[in-house]
This record gives sequence, structure tokens and C-alpha cells, in this order.
Amino acid sequence: MNPIYAALPTTIFEKMSAIARETGAINLGQGFPDAPGPEDVRRAAADALIERSNQYPPMLGIPELRQAVAAHYGAHHGLSLDWQTEVVATSGATEAISAAILGLVSPGDEVVLIQPLYDAYMPMVRRAGGVPKLIGLEPPHWTLSADALDAAITPATKLLIFNNPANPTGKMYDRATLEMIAKRCIRHDLVAICDEVWEHVVFDGDHVPLIAIPGMRDRTVKIGSAGKIFALTGWKVGWMVAGEMLAKQVGKAHQFMTFTTPPNLQWAVAQGLAKPQGWFEAMRAGFARSRDRLVAGLEAAGYAVLPSQATWFVSVDLAASGIALDDVTFADRMALEGGVVTIPVSAFFEERPVTNILRLCYCKEDAVLDEAIARLKAMR
Ligand code: GLN
Repeated sequence: MNPIYAALPTTIFEKMSAIARETGAINLGQGFPDAPGPEDVRRAAADALIERSNQYPPMLGIPELRQAVAAHYGAHHGLSLDWQTEVVATSGATEAISAAILGLVSPGDEVVLIQPLYDAYMPMVRRAGGVPKLIGLEPPHWTLSADALDAAITPATKLLIFNNPANPTGKMYDRATLEMIAKRCIRHDLVAICDEVWEHVVFDGDHVPLIAIPGMRDRTVKIGSAGKIFALTGWKVGWMVAGEMLAKQVGKAHQFMTFTTPPNLQWAVAQGLAKPQGWFEAMRAGFARSRDRLVAGLEAAGYAVLPSQATWFVSVDLAASGIALDDVTFADRMALEGGVVTIPVSAFFEERPVTNILRLCYCKEDAVLDEAIARLKAMR
């Protein structure tokens, strides 16, 4: 096989969702809610489809969305962004990640990546000719130590890819860790691509963006996602914000990937981003309820659940649950025989994988969660 194709594997999400589609299993694998998303935002898109332009919008995104992103981050994180030069709308966060990597990584550049690692990063780093330098974190707390980061950085290091809050672990890094990272980025003159798509789905205090840590304003590419904020994953509307130099570079890669994103969806997301604080709190409270329901059910069924401070996911420690199988074997068996699709967390490792953790998506209706719990209990 052409090694190019080997370097671009099929994602674990597609693989596990295909099993769910084929077998009718409950899909707690790929992260998407079964609620329809806010009606006013969907209605704004429908109206815009009829009443507003359907031709190519500006390459960097419609002004209304870029202004809304800048205003949103001003209101929520105290960031001051120039919407004209520092905000680029993308076709989902995945495109923003790819554009950032292709725009900023040159052949031979070393890129620090933290495992477990969201699966979109590594293949694009390799395609860009980057040299991955991997750090492995350990359950249950997935702590990133200064020593581990220091050991991964060399004079050839150009970039760090950092996901906070983190998928698949649900880990929210504390301010001390962000400051530790910032100190090293400044000392070694690194750029951080910071995937913060879960910034609003947090349960343990407020999210602190890396770009807000002193010294990081002009060396961070911050990536966001409307799919995550409004539970509209199929829309594929995302964005990146960064200082002008970085934004220009990422925008150049973006123009040859998707060029732009459907204007009506951009318009609707712009309306949504202006929602009042209370809406975000209610959204979080709804997700917290579902998370707690799944955790309680899993624990009652004898599963050891790891703490999750953010995201739509919780993790189960199979070994601590008294299950001797590795995560891939258990996930396959659970999907094909048990009727519940999950995600084996070893899929988020390139080397020295942790093989006893399973990720489950909790943002489903109560009845779906209850049935999944019953099936998981029956498989023990
Ligand atoms: N972010 C989603 C997840 O973690 C998957 C997105 C995708 O399938 N591309 O489940």
C-alpha cells in the first residue's frame, strides 16, 4: 500500500459508528447528542437559507460570525480580539486543526503531542512532514508534569498541540498546568495549537483559555466549535482565533482546504453565540444531569468510573471494574454481542497505549442511557 494511505487511517469514530448503524446497537461511541439542538439557532439557519445569500461568503468567514466570535470571547473570557485580522471561520474544528497544522508545521519541525490524543492530530502532523514527540499521561488523573514536557522539547521543537478540556479523558487542566505550559512555550519560542472545543461543556469551574495566560496571546491558535457549543455536530462550523501573524498563516491553509463554510450556518451560529450567560449555564446543567445518570448507573452495575470534569464523555476503568479484557476486545464484544457501542481509549495512543479504559458518550435521552446501562450490566 502507498505509505500515504497507511498514514491516514480510518477514524475510530467512523469505525464504531458503522458497527452501530449495521447492528442497531446503542451508540455511546462517537460524540453527538440525540437532542435536536436549540430551535432558535436552527430556525435562524432555515430563514437565512431563504432570505440571505447562498453564494460564496468571504474566505475567512462572514463578518457577522467573526464579529460574534470576537464578542463572545470578550464576554466569556475577557479576550480582546480584532475580528478582521484575528478570527477565521472554518468548516468545523477538525478543519481548523488541519489548517493550523498544515499552515504552521514545516518538514522536520518537531511537534509535541499529549496522549491520549484526539485522533485528528497525528495523521496531519505526519502529512505536514512534522516529527511527533509524544508524551503519555496516566489514568486516573491524566496529569501533565513539567518533567514530561521538558523531556519532549528539543531545539527542533516548533509546536505543541494541546487539547483542553481534553477528549477522551474529560480532563480540565488547572491554571498551574497552563502556566507551566506557557512558561515553556515562551522559553523555547513555541506556538501552541490549543483545541478548546469543549470550553463550554465544563462542570468544575470556568474554562481558562491558554491564549489568556500572560505571554501566550501571540503564540496560541485557539480553536472552537459551534457543533460542541450548540450540540449541532453535523453543521461543521468552527473557527480559530490567533494573533494576526498566526491567523494569516492558518487562513492561507484554510483557503485551499474548504475555502469557506455555508453562509447560512455561519449566520445562525453568529446569532447563537450572542445568547445570554444563563443559556450556557442551563446547557451545562442539562449535560451534568445526563452525565450523573450514566455514572450512577455504571457504578451500580459494578463499573469503576473515572472522574470527568468536562466534555460529553465519561471513562470506565475495565481493570478496576474486575474485567480482565483489554479495551478493544471488550469494546468489540460489547458492540457486537452486548448491543452498546463505546470507544476504546487505546485508539488515542500512538505508542505505549493504556489499554484498560473505555470512553462512553452520555449526552443521550434518559431511556437510551438506562437501556445502555442495563446492557452493560448484562455483559459483566
Ligand atoms: N469529536 C467526536 C468524538 O470525540 C468525533 C468527531 C468525528 O467523528 N470526527 O466523538
